[in-house]
Amino acid sequence: MKKLVLATHNRDKFKEMKQALDGLGWDIQAAFDFPGMPEVVEDGVTLEENSLKKAKEIWAFTKLTTLSDDTGLFIDALKGEPGIYAARYAGEKCTYVDNVQKVLRLMEKVPDSARRAVFRTIVTIYDPVKGAQQVCGEVEGKITGSVQGNGGFGYDPIFMPEGFSKVFALMTLEEKNQISHRGRALQKARQLLISK
Ligand code: IMP
Repeated sequence: MKKLVLATHNRDKFKEMKQALDGLGWDIQAAFDFPGMPEVVEDGVTLEENSLKKAKEIWAFTKLTTLSDDTGLFIDALKGEPGIYAARYAGEKCTYVDNVQKVLRLMEKVPDSARRAVFRTIVTIYDPVKGAQQVCGEVEGKITGSVQGNGGFGYDPIFMPEGFSKVFALMTLEEKNQISHRGRALQKARQLLISK
């Protein structure tokens, strides 16, 4: 069976990605299961750059086809912040809760009509023969006024996708993957993997 390494140290993401790539006939492995796997420094200035960097560095270590993702959250009322810096929005060693609280605090006075946000993911598949293939997935939605649910991760408790009346944190893994930024990018990535 062909092996695919998911280039992430984030166990929450790994769970979602593995489910979204299920049934393709690839043996899916996690980068964090390889002892000594380097931590990739995300110092690019675009999602494309960071996603590519992760895929290439993990390939260099494993010599196996890699699939990486890089995600940003772009909030209109915060002039596009946190953008590509979504992981460390509340500071270098911050938690998911710190980030969520920072967003809620900054948006305390923002009316419902101006709370639009977009999640965007760039997925990269990399091997040295075909090189890098990148696909994008996006979902529009709004930032809620308070935290709801305890599923998912990151900003899921405050992101309600357009056309839905519940936040990502109240959805099952399968429901979120159907409509999320990452799920949409991975649906395109599935096609690339089928023809590999
Ligand atoms: P990364 O740079 O792709 O690892 O993602 C940056 C940060 O965005 C993560 O640490 C999370 O806080 C947030 N994030 C990424 N994907 C999601 C998601 O699907 N839901 C909620 N937050 C997310």
